[in-house]
Amino acid sequence: MTDKVPSPTHPIAAINTAVDTAVDTAVKLFNTAKRALDELKPIEAGVIKLYCCGPTVYNYQHVGNLRTYIFEDLLARTLRYAGYRVQHVMNITDVGHLVSDADQGEDKMLVASRREQKSSQEIADYYTKIFFDHCAQLNIQRPDVVCKATEHIPEMIALIEQLFEKGMAYESGGNIYFEVAKFTQYGDLARLDLENLQAGARIDVDEKKRGALDFALWFTKSKFENQELQWDSPWGRGYPGWHIECSAMSMKYLGEQFDIHCGGIDHIPVHHTNEIAQSQCATGKPLSNVWMHGGFLLSDKEKMSKSSGVFLTLDRIIEKGFEPLTYRLFCLGSNYRNELVFSWEGLESAERNLKKFRANVISWKNSPQTSSAAGNEGLEHLRQEFRDALFNDLGLAKAMASVHALIGAEQLSDSEKLALFLEFDLVLGLGAVNWVEEVVTLPSVVQELVGARQTARAEKRWADADKLRAQVLELGFTVEDSPAGPIVKPK
Ligand SMILES: [Zn+2]
Repeated sequence: MTDKVPSPTHPIAAINTAVDTAVDTAVKLFNTAKRALDELKPIEAGVIKLYCCGPTVYNYQHVGNLRTYIFEDLLARTLRYAGYRVQHVMNITDVGHLVSDADQGEDKMLVASRREQKSSQEIADYYTKIFFDHCAQLNIQRPDVVCKATEHIPEMIALIEQLFEKGMAYESGGNIYFEVAKFTQYGDLARLDLENLQAGARIDVDEKKRGALDFALWFTKSKFENQELQWDSPWGRGYPGWHIECSAMSMKYLGEQFDIHCGGIDHIPVHHTNEIAQSQCATGKPLSNVWMHGGFLLSDKEKMSKSSGVFLTLDRIIEKGFEPLTYRLFCLGSNYRNELVFSWEGLESAERNLKKFRANVISWKNSPQTSSAAGNEGLEHLRQEFRDALFNDLGLAKAMASVHALIGAEQLSDSEKLALFLEFDLVLGLGAVNWVEEVVTLPSVVQELVGARQTARAEKRWADADKLRAQVLELGFTVEDSPAGPIVKPK
């Protein structure tokens, strides 16, 4: 993975190694459970235990899914920047996720298996690899623990047995269900209107269920032939419901209670609601203190989803000539809870910013080490602005304004700007520490204009020279004169 950190000799390297010291930074995060900002109070001092719902590996992740993983990466990086040690756990769903998030339809893995004439295992391996390749291209750091549902069946069975002991689970028609009516806090996260929901759900109710909102913990009666993914259980050979895997795996790796649980906003009404019900009824404790949700990526005012047919992958963006990090920067241009509208124009704008950042960083790297009169004070002001913005619910809009202010900060020396940009990039994750001078091949028309300008200057036709410089600028390049000749750079 591309875990970019500055070299140990760099002055800001100290920040990365200072993670075990006491944390005195207040971080506020929007807690969906309270619909309000919550000051983060870690269960264990100095450590944040973070669980994020991972992909169902039956197809490519679209860029809307990837936006959620960029948000979660930004969160983990921000918490580390604040001084916390982060234990980041993410699951891989390779069984149990039916075509509907409720218990309708066939297992997504089996649908893919038939579509591609491969085994479920081959499908899972293939799409898991693609997912992590895309994450690497987007500089998304790999979570500390990545756990697969199919490798945690005994943990799921143990949790279902606990729910039986507490009287919260029942067997009906060969399947095991969670009895929603017995959990009075059901639906609190999503503020569900249970009466209306129950009335609505009755139309399509599975007659094996006691209540319309009850959900499956374990299936032994598959409605589908050739169910390939099956395990023995106390209730017969079968396979788990989708939600139980996240409860079982999050508690296995992070304990019965942890600090932050994340996912896409679409997880609130069913998946996270059911995770809370199962976990809390089994242990008697709330599963996570803070619940955070990333907003949708829209395309033409439509939510991007595989089922709607609006389905854009990172590969498509790369085919169009963009580098993958352009998409990361595009996402960083909007606060994580907002809906973000995807557009190619938006991506082009992000590309211009990425080029600008890179050109500046490279020129700063080539400058001699100096300090300015504004010195520490100027740096400290910008650093504080950036930190305040991020530690207030990952306020990206303000944080990015600090980045742009840094680039334009004339009172600071190049080496000071470089040091602070690399510090900011610990969180932004653009890989600036690796940016080096590229040999830029100028378009021939630009080369000709620059040559004509040199001739005009030599002949002291200053007005012509200025016109030619303006033309070069129109084409997206700047010209600076140096004793060694003109320096032409992308704008
Ligand atoms: Zn989950």
